[in-house]
Amino acid sequence: MRRKGSKDKVVSNSKMVENSFAEKQLNNFQPEFDMTPKSPKVYIRTFGCQMNERDSEIIYSMMIQEGYTPVSSYEEADLIIFNTCSVRKHAEDRVWGKLKELKNLKHGESACSGAPPMIGLVGCMAKAHGKEVFKKLPHVSFICGPSNIYDIPGLAKKVKSGKSHLMSISKEKRPLSEKRDEYREEKIRAWVNISYGCNNFCSYCIVPFVRGREISRRSENIIDEIKRLVDNGAKEVTLLGQNVNSYKSPTGKSFIRLLEEVNRIDGLRRIRFMTSHPKDAGLELFKAIAGLDKVCEHLHLPLQSGSDRILRLMNRNYTSSHYLKLIDNLRKTIPDCAVTTDIIVGFPSETEGDFEDTRMLMEKIRFDSAFIFKYSPRPFAKASNTEDDILLEEKKERNQVLLGCQDKITRKKNEDLIGNVEEVLGISIAKRKPSSSEYPPATYIKGRSRKNSLVVYKGSMGLIGRILNVKIRGVEENTFIGEAV
Ligand code: SF4
Repeated sequence: MRRKGSKDKVVSNSKMVENSFAEKQLNNFQPEFDMTPKSPKVYIRTFGCQMNERDSEIIYSMMIQEGYTPVSSYEEADLIIFNTCSVRKHAEDRVWGKLKELKNLKHGESACSGAPPMIGLVGCMAKAHGKEVFKKLPHVSFICGPSNIYDIPGLAKKVKSGKSHLMSISKEKRPLSEKRDEYREEKIRAWVNISYGCNNFCSYCIVPFVRGREISRRSENIIDEIKRLVDNGAKEVTLLGQNVNSYKSPTGKSFIRLLEEVNRIDGLRRIRFMTSHPKDAGLELFKAIAGLDKVCEHLHLPLQSGSDRILRLMNRNYTSSHYLKLIDNLRKTIPDCAVTTDIIVGFPSETEGDFEDTRMLMEKIRFDSAFIFKYSPRPFAKASNTEDDILLEEKKERNQVLLGCQDKITRKKNEDLIGNVEEVLGISIAKRKPSSSEYPPATYIKGRSRKNSLVVYKGSMGLIGRILNVKIRGVEENTFIGEAV
């Protein structure tokens, strides 16, 4: 989820990531279809939040069923898909830049046919920019909104048969497809969508416009999906939604009831969820975290601003004192629960005083980590009608102040954990070994504590997927170095 001390990496309620997804896919890839040299190749580059990462898994699943093989570079691919995010302008600019470069991807570099690759722009940018994409970048073959990803195989087929500039961005709500798509990036941990879209219309946010209004999946389908994941080796699931607390199944089941049901699944060891909205989170949720043994002690609760005036302009529907009270109740209910957050600096009209309110609230709450970003106006969002009047230099400075403030808090909190014993789930072999590692080099395992901290400890492949108690011996760049006890 969150990387501690990360600089300006995350917007609103989601981790901003950009990955070489296919590389990870290839590591886990078990072909179940004809892999003759002629099978077409697909490369997906993912930008944005975990919802997008999950969508990329679904797209890979569909394309594999269509006979495609995942590859790890543009040059090998017959079909290149950019699964995009519109939450930050900076992320969009990078996609535009990369897509422009692909125009020069020479004929013949594409793996099988010598034809130029098909290029699909998928996700929030497709919905936000529509056919303007083709004006800007005529070499893009198709665009497809986040609610329409199930149309991608059909779009690819049509492009193959000679059509181009195809669009599938019409529907507002995502169809609740329950197609089996067991293709996962990781075996041990899995993301499971519980809802799509958002009804909150925070004034800086494009999500309700590009992902549509909120729609919740049936709880039976969520439970079935998690049981299948557990049968395939998953130990931990993260329930995903823009605002998980407002989950309501078609039969009226609340998020807490869903958590209780997921907690009863045999073989599942851990449950996480994101993201929570402060206006909808409360004591009932905190009691569920405390009382349900598989629910991990970590809450991501975006604060966004410590100024009540700015919170009002952001349409967040809570005040700083409400937020503070929530944290107070949370810590009374679960004293050692990790709390992470998102903050925006430089929202239109943010004064020094407003900024100072945010800084002071951060000092008071002492988050475990915070993701801080500089405001940028987004199309459709209400705040984009207001002048973006805080100079970039000022935004950068405020951003640095908060990063420095959080860094100090995180460092102190990390030091306080040294000597503790944490319950850690082994995820993979650690690529980076601790600086103190001995010679000849031992194998180290990378795992996550219940509070979602990264822990590295000596071990063997057999510890991947196992939960162990690990004594924390030290910390290097926000990674804890431990020893299994
Ligand atoms: S509008 Fe929805 S997705 Fe966007 S920040 Fe607000 S709660 Fe999150």
